Amino acid sequence: MQVVKTVEEVRAARWTDPYLTWGLVPTMGTLHEGHLSLVRRARAENDRVAVSVFVNPIQFNRREDLDAYPRQLDHDLGLLEAEGVDLVWAPDEDQMYPSGFQTYVSVEEITQPLEGASRPGHFRGVTTVVAKLFNVIEPKHAYFGQKDAQQVAVIKQMVRDLGFNLAVVVCPIVREPDGLALSSRNLLLSLDERQAGLVLSRALNAARDEWMGGQRDAEHLRATMRAIVEAEPLARIDYISAADPITLRELEGSTDHALLSMAVFVGSVRLIDNLIVGYGEADLRA
Ligand code: AMP
Repeated sequence: MQVVKTVEEVRAARWTDPYLTWGLVPTMGTLHEGHLSLVRRARAENDRVAVSVFVNPIQFNRREDLDAYPRQLDHDLGLLEAEGVDLVWAPDEDQMYPSGFQTYVSVEEITQPLEGASRPGHFRGVTTVVAKLFNVIEPKHAYFGQKDAQQVAVIKQMVRDLGFNLAVVVCPIVREPDGLALSSRNLLLSLDERQAGLVLSRALNAARDEWMGGQRDAEHLRATMRAIVEAEPLARIDYISAADPITLRELEGSTDHALLSMAVFVGSVRLIDNLIVGYGEADLRA
């Protein structure tokens, strides 16, 4: 496994044989089984696998969040080596954003609601860094987790709009046995908060149960989720949503499919989770 820092080093490693296909897994490090599920899928579907590890400062809209974000590169490298990864790009900030940097990629409507409304500038940071990763590595497949449902929609939009020559592959959410979606941020939770964090998947599952029982009213589904989260004293709702899975517009009245999603502060840690009803995830991956 080669571990490199500069754009030139990535290109040199990438182009040893132009006929090999590459899969890319972009990450911010502090890897867990969620990230590794993407790596394994990439390993199975490509000749070579590249993983980027970069805590991207321009996608954080709160300085405290960036400072608190966990980092453990040495541990990550051990995990990636064990998965048979070929190339790790762990750039310093000045490789990604050399002095004088002034070019940004900005996707419009679909970045406005949900995460975009709560975290101004977040997706502009994400699409800018991902566009650069795509340009430098030139993968055939790029792997993203359904955990960040809006991110997937935004990246697919960017790939379509700008004509990147690659396929976006979306992988299912990996959870702890008790339902908590794996996240690097879970490390920041105290024991009590870890327990309280279960409220997200509990609320989503309750709404899904109602859906299975025939409930189709979007506001009713939101109200069910809201009531469950509000009953948890350590949790504070950022948003609770039942939105169209493609446009991400909030749904009103009766619906035949929905992306149920939420962002909830548990203590000072912001957790997100989601679930799709009405469509199989596979339909959306198409
Ligand atoms: P991050 O390091 O948080 O930027 O995540 C890197 C990639 O891993 C993103 O595509 C995430 O959606 C994905 N990911 C993070 N957590 C999970 C999870 N629990 N299950 C599946 N994919 C995940």
